[in-house]
Amino acid sequence: MKIENLCVRRLIGDVSGATTHGHKMAIKGGYIYQTFQGGYTLSPLGWRVVRNIENIIRSEMDAIDGQEILMPVVSGADIWRESGRYDTVDVLAKFKGRSGADYVLNPTHEEVVVDYVKSVLETYRQMPFMVYQIQTKFRDELRARAGLIRTREFIMKDAYSFHETLSDLEQYYERCLHSYERIFKRCGLKQVVSVMSSTGDMGGSVAHEFQLINDMGEDTIYLCDCGFSANKELITDDAEICPKCGAKLNKVRGIEIGNIFQLGTKYSDSMNLTYTAPDGESKHPIMGCYGIGVGRTMAAIMEESADDKGPVWNMATAPFAVHVIGLPDKEGKTLPLAEEIYKNLKSAGIEAILDNRDVRAGEKFADADLIAAPIRLIVSAKNLANNAIEVKYRVNDVDTSEYKSTFGLDTYMSETVDTILKLLGK
Ligand SMILES: [Zn+2]
Repeated sequence: MKIENLCVRRLIGDVSGATTHGHKMAIKGGYIYQTFQGGYTLSPLGWRVVRNIENIIRSEMDAIDGQEILMPVVSGADIWRESGRYDTVDVLAKFKGRSGADYVLNPTHEEVVVDYVKSVLETYRQMPFMVYQIQTKFRDELRARAGLIRTREFIMKDAYSFHETLSDLEQYYERCLHSYERIFKRCGLKQVVSVMSSTGDMGGSVAHEFQLINDMGEDTIYLCDCGFSANKELITDDAEICPKCGAKLNKVRGIEIGNIFQLGTKYSDSMNLTYTAPDGESKHPIMGCYGIGVGRTMAAIMEESADDKGPVWNMATAPFAVHVIGLPDKEGKTLPLAEEIYKNLKSAGIEAILDNRDVRAGEKFADADLIAAPIRLIVSAKNLANNAIEVKYRVNDVDTSEYKSTFGLDTYMSETVDTILKLLGK
């Protein structure tokens, strides 16, 4: 990608309308554009980051035997009436088709997935299994805020597991909890905690939220040095004392980026999903469900890591791996060389962006901070005299002080690949 062709509007100076630092950087860098109140277009930059996050999630879901599916954004009202939630879920957006049929924009997919699994599940031998999707949802929230933190339309990974016994669900729930810890770590998030939460609209008994500890968060969470953690709904005692060890709880703000629930048989009961048990009896499977806000995860990374110049990604989430900057020289050597380097990187399958524009170096570096490719190759007359390319790093959570500050003109390809692998922790 050449920077002049990138369909992204970056802003210089202060931006208006942003409520948090991360939101400000998302607008400044042109990662998101508000199409309507609570609905965003992801720019080529934002979508590259979100797709990278999705792929991290996919690999971890597949690693715990998840099977990816795709369910529709819209469903008929019938399955929501069947589960009893048509009139009780306040964020459910309803509309009528021209034929008079009632539809909903799905805010979550328990009804849709149970309806699907009814067409598949016959016997206990098929369980356990988990299906998941990464897809758009709509919630008719009364208020939207802070960019991708609370939106009406959003991309979510939602997963649903089906089990014969409660202990089997409990074991799988634990696996999923560890899978979530790996996902957020791979995204470069440092301050994520899992806290016990109430099950709310979802039904069931045990639930956890994954919260990024951050002052910009809209949730209040309680943490104890003994390891106990819970969200506000579970702490009813005004004294804020740990129910496990009796110490005073630490109260912090959090941004919820994921949640997991042990649903039990709430949906398999109400929608009459059954299987034949070993004794020949017809039974309802026990379910768990597991969500991650994908756009919200991008927003959370920005809240946690962005500095005054822009967002800071890690190698796994960055929109581009390498940013090649050509600084014009009098002999006319640097720009053609920068272009050649960019083309070589591209043909090697490395995601690269080239800035050979006729603008001030300061503007190029400011843009590079906003795009935040972890590796920056700078082609200038000064370094060319030494047969070298200057290298700069902008990367989340890796100490690059010992990394090379120049690559050789003959060896930059292998040195770039080695550095990418190093930044990926490989
Ligand atoms: Zn405690």
